[in-house]
Amino acid sequence: MRRVSIFGATGSVGQNTVDLISRAPQDYDVIALTGADNIAQLSKDAKALGAKVAVTAKPGKLAELQAALAGSDVLAAAGPNAITEAATRPCDWVMSAIVGVAGLAPGLAALQQGATLALANKESLVCAGALMLQTAKENDATILPVDSEHSAIFQALTGEDINAVERIILTASGGAFRDWPLAALGSATLAEASSHPNWDMGQRITIDSASMFNKAMEVIEVREFFRVQPDQIEVIIHPESLIHALVGFNDGALMAHLGPPDMRHAIGYALNWPKRRGLPVARLDLAQIGQLNFKNPDIARYPALKLARAVMDRGGQMGAAFNAAKERALDAFINRRIRFTDMAEVVEDVLTRFETDPDHIDAAMTLDNVTKTDHLARMWADQVMAKRAG
Ligand code: NAD
Ligand code: MG
Repeated sequence: MRRVSIFGATGSVGQNTVDLISRAPQDYDVIALTGADNIAQLSKDAKALGAKVAVTAKPGKLAELQAALAGSDVLAAAGPNAITEAATRPCDWVMSAIVGVAGLAPGLAALQQGATLALANKESLVCAGALMLQTAKENDATILPVDSEHSAIFQALTGEDINAVERIILTASGGAFRDWPLAALGSATLAEASSHPNWDMGQRITIDSASMFNKAMEVIEVREFFRVQPDQIEVIIHPESLIHALVGFNDGALMAHLGPPDMRHAIGYALNWPKRRGLPVARLDLAQIGQLNFKNPDIARYPALKLARAVMDRGGQMGAAFNAAKERALDAFINRRIRFTDMAEVVEDVLTRFETDPDHIDAAMTLDNVTKTDHLARMWADQVMAKRAG
């Protein structure tokens, strides 16, 4: 039996992972499930899957979790440290599906024990790609990408020589505001930004899809994970979201990966890797689909893409600064304190401030330094937003 844990089990990716594991319970020994606010879901799944421990990120929710687990064999724990501790429990396969930089420390802990890390938490690679890869190497651990585009690239590269790759093309749906007049974006509401044309995902990544901060993060994720040069990474708008990514080789071949917009494909691929097994996802009917469309993204509409280039050019801790400023700006948009189009401007101002203060960006790539950069970027983002409001 394979020992598995799911970090961020109550979220969108987490629930899809629970779904796949529940279909073959005899194959898995479930070690840890973690969540945050949704104690009902966390306790229900922990009991159903017979997990050893269930952990909520919220210390104030411990009593509620204990009560929900009363009478079962599942241990209850709470707080960020308890989550990271759960990642040190011996395990073979760990799903990293916490949203935000909070996923970094548990992911590193899983790698340190040599587990295979199925990585949905793109923030880990954006903030600390070099540290993630180095930790995996030192501990003979494997990282398998779960972001659908990166899973697609990984699959297209299987059996290939990375030196024969000319370019990697990420597809983007264009998000909720793809066809809106540019002038209307400033007044886009939270509800409008929270609906995705093709994918059903958590709220934060859905808004990031509308602003293309999600694609910006994914470009950096490609750079960090596959170690290609920034100018080898392209983004193309593909409204149908059926091609997830393409890899272009030096002989002119383009390998495209197609599949339904269902995260259980990428999750299941990582769960069954290096084999393929049947998955409960829809099969594409190409004749019915009829046509696939593509167009270049407009930088005026998606300034986050330009910021991703700046982050890759600078390297070092700039990814951590970028992610933290973005998380803070997104919090402010969700709390209706800034406008949709303000998010990219806030992030850009924070990056500019870091550029004039290079010591932070050039600090060694350790969890401590990433955490420091993260805190500083949040503080500066708050200052930028306060100044704009005042
Ligand atoms: P979600 O918001 O639906 O779920 C997030 C999970 O993280 C929940 O279990 C929540 O309880 C937990 N969580 C939230 N804050 C936490 C904290 N501070 N500490 C510990 N746990 C916390 O998010 P999601 O859409 O499932 O996305 C999860 C990750 O996967 C993100 O990094 C996202 O970018 C990435 N991703 C998601 C999708 C998707 O289809 N949803 C696709 C590709 C990549
Ligand atoms: Mg993606």
